[in-house]
Amino acid sequence: MAEIRVALGQRSYPVLVQQGLARRIPEVLERVAPSKRYFVFADGNVWSHYFDIIPSKDPRYVTFAVPPGEGSKSIETLYSFWTFLLQNGVERGHVAVAIGGGVVGDAAGFAAATVLRGIRLVQVPTSLLAQVDASIGGKTGINHPLGKNLIGAFYQPVAVIIDPAFLRTLPESEFQSGMYEVIKYALIEKNGLYERLMDFAWSRTSDMTAVIELCAQCKAHVVAGDEMEAERRMILNFGHTVGHAIEAAGGFKQLKHGQAVGWGILFAARLSRAMGICDRLTEDAIGRLLYRNGALPKLSYPPAMLVELMRHDKKVRDGRFTFVLPKRIGEVVIRKGIEEDWVQRQLEEFYREVGG
Ligand code: ADP
Ligand code: ZN
Repeated sequence: MAEIRVALGQRSYPVLVQQGLARRIPEVLERVAPSKRYFVFADGNVWSHYFDIIPSKDPRYVTFAVPPGEGSKSIETLYSFWTFLLQNGVERGHVAVAIGGGVVGDAAGFAAATVLRGIRLVQVPTSLLAQVDASIGGKTGINHPLGKNLIGAFYQPVAVIIDPAFLRTLPESEFQSGMYEVIKYALIEKNGLYERLMDFAWSRTSDMTAVIELCAQCKAHVVAGDEMEAERRMILNFGHTVGHAIEAAGGFKQLKHGQAVGWGILFAARLSRAMGICDRLTEDAIGRLLYRNGALPKLSYPPAMLVELMRHDKKVRDGRFTFVLPKRIGEVVIRKGIEEDWVQRQLEEFYREVGG
């Protein structure tokens, strides 16, 4: 079993990756987070496939089936989590276990961070996006009607348990979306992932163990170097500056997160070449890698609208944008102070080129 360490001093924790690990959850929990009671928050869809991974007759386990979907990252669901924990006699020494995609990890993670001022949290990510990204790094939280992920806390889990076998039941579109985040890791750092993706079958049924391990290693050491996203952690936002705007433009319904990031990576490559940071060969190689993951839905949002949304993104200040730009395959640079108007003109040209 691969054991990747997220090195954060006293709050360090392991990310365990192994095919079939889900079947050993009680034993693993006993080792990484011994407790008299485990509060299991499981995504409803995941639970319908894997309810037998949690011992049903063991009174130490109490389970909450979380309604699937982004709607569960709400104050109402969070409140129901708190009530469930309190009604079942939660104590400081108990453990919360979040089994599901990013939604359950974020919302149940925030419940664990806040109930009794914090109980231990174990993440068991089941979507590709959550396995390679969301479950590692300690971001927890919910949405607010005024925006996504606006309420939350950095709260590190005590362990992350990843079983690539969960992906067998993941819908194909969710797999494709997660793969854009995998592509992100292949491009931000030289870690062997790019080469691996070059002869990868791009299917949900392939053995994803090695790919997930490489992504988790990358995320783990970037986060360890910069827990609160001061500087270095920003490289994880590669493709996300425009990606977030595209997601928001579609009301978070038209494109999946990963697809929006896919567009964001393509645009970042174009911007980088226009600024002379990367050459056309690099831009083309990035385009080809993305193309292997299938087609992206057409973009129909006016560039001015995307720029307006980027302005409102919490990562943007003073009418100038910060972009993470590829220099070559496996290396990115952070560029601050890029003019809004110029970005808009580049987006307009990009649209003409990709036929948006
Ligand atoms: P994400 O993980 O992409 O942030 P979600 O938590 O909403 O987003 O998960 C995406 C969708 O995939 C949800 O409908 C969820 O129920 C479903 N899902 C997650 N993991 C699995 C799995 N292993 N098998 C089947 N469905 C899953
Ligand atoms: Zn992302």
